[in-house]
Amino acid sequence: MNQEVRTRFAPSPTGFMHLGGLRAALYGYLFARKNGGKFILRIEDTDQVRFVEGATEVIYDTLRRCGMNWDEGPDVGGPVGPYIQSQRKDLYLPYAQQLVKTGHAYYCFCTKEELEERRAACEAKGEVFKYDKHCLHLTQEEIQRKLDAGVPYVIRQNAPTTGETSYDDLVFGHMTFPNDTLDDMVLIKQDGMPTYNFANVIDDHLMGITHVMRGMEYLSSTPKYNLLYEAFGWEIPQYIHMPPVMRDSQHKLSKRDGDAYFSDYVDKGYLVEAIVNYLALVGWNPGDDREFFTLDELVEAFDIHRINKAPGIFDVKKLTWFNAEYIRRLTPEKYLEMVTPWFDKVFGDSSKMDYKRLAELMQCRTEVFNLVPDMVRFLAQLPDYDSAIYINKKAKTNKEACLKALNLLRPVLDGITEWTEPVIHDTVMAAIAEAGMKNGTALWPLRIAISGQQSTPGGAIEIAYLLGKEETLRRVDDGIRRVSEMPDA
Ligand code: GLU
Repeated sequence: MNQEVRTRFAPSPTGFMHLGGLRAALYGYLFARKNGGKFILRIEDTDQVRFVEGATEVIYDTLRRCGMNWDEGPDVGGPVGPYIQSQRKDLYLPYAQQLVKTGHAYYCFCTKEELEERRAACEAKGEVFKYDKHCLHLTQEEIQRKLDAGVPYVIRQNAPTTGETSYDDLVFGHMTFPNDTLDDMVLIKQDGMPTYNFANVIDDHLMGITHVMRGMEYLSSTPKYNLLYEAFGWEIPQYIHMPPVMRDSQHKLSKRDGDAYFSDYVDKGYLVEAIVNYLALVGWNPGDDREFFTLDELVEAFDIHRINKAPGIFDVKKLTWFNAEYIRRLTPEKYLEMVTPWFDKVFGDSSKMDYKRLAELMQCRTEVFNLVPDMVRFLAQLPDYDSAIYINKKAKTNKEACLKALNLLRPVLDGITEWTEPVIHDTVMAAIAEAGMKNGTALWPLRIAISGQQSTPGGAIEIAYLLGKEETLRRVDDGIRRVSEMPDA
């Protein structure tokens, strides 16, 4: 390739970053970096009705957090700006007028009502409505008269009705569409703004985009875009259309289910690096069995020919697995920093709990951060529990053994003056040995009594330490009461 590769991410500012969009951005970024080219950010906001306050910030913020830095864009500028379509709005009309002059486009004065009527009539006959080129047949004088009178108009593409249009897509291969399926799409709307259909062509050309990467919903409009490129005598870019990112083969990711947007996952406590890593693999593979990639490693490995034609299935279980791995690889300091707000949800602040020690116990057990509060809540408040869990086959505990263990350990714990893990450990273990009990048989009921659950991060000693002496004793007393009330076996 001797031409510089230029890719672009062209989101509409909706306020949310859909995973499908983010993946398109990722592939565009990877391809540009892989080829030493440029990655351009363009904001497509010509649909002013859909304008959402703060939505461009969501785009900047998401891309930055993911590490996908753009070389040219609204905030960083560049040689072919502005990079926000609404700020380019005056440049599109002259191009449309040029197409009118060459017969590739025409003014259309049909009103909404007229179009609706014709659509209804058409559908009544069981036919698919396509604009009938009504205004193409107006005379020059009629057109001028309407323009002079200020009759609202749109400008439509004059698509051919015979023959076919083909192009090669790097993912979907050779695509051919009969021209009679192409409708005369609107290029300039009544408000003077270009449609996406027009603006994408003008901007991709003016911005020197060499590779257009976008969702496959544009596959069938692309022939119309190509006809525009040809009408202008411009070079057609390479196309890389991408299948959607789905929940499973039947279901789209959806706003309602809270699984469609990048922010859904970040808010739940998935790491950005894990999301990016997994997302890259949804619809692309490196050709070997590697799974873990930093962004730079993805750049290195990326090969556009390995993008899959089939829809990408975004499997949350798999993402969760990636996430747990990424969490495990965090430094203890970083984990502590990240888990702190989740601990705060339970403890209020770190004055009531040794966050550092708790974090050590939790790091290898954390799959997603939003699961943390429920896992540590027992430390803040003893949950209500069924005394049946005192009985454990492996630990060989029955009512009598539990009572014996708790009554043994209650005064032992009470006698500890320096409440540290090593001291608690040594004192408790010595007492168990001296009483001739098995460790498991003594420690199981202790852990149940002070945690109220069978599975806990850390064992009885760690939990006792975290709870503090007073709370530990209170819970042991409560445990003695509960066990005493159990029916005799
Ligand atoms: N603004 C379009 C969208 O968000 C971009 C499609 C494209 O990349 O050309 O769907």
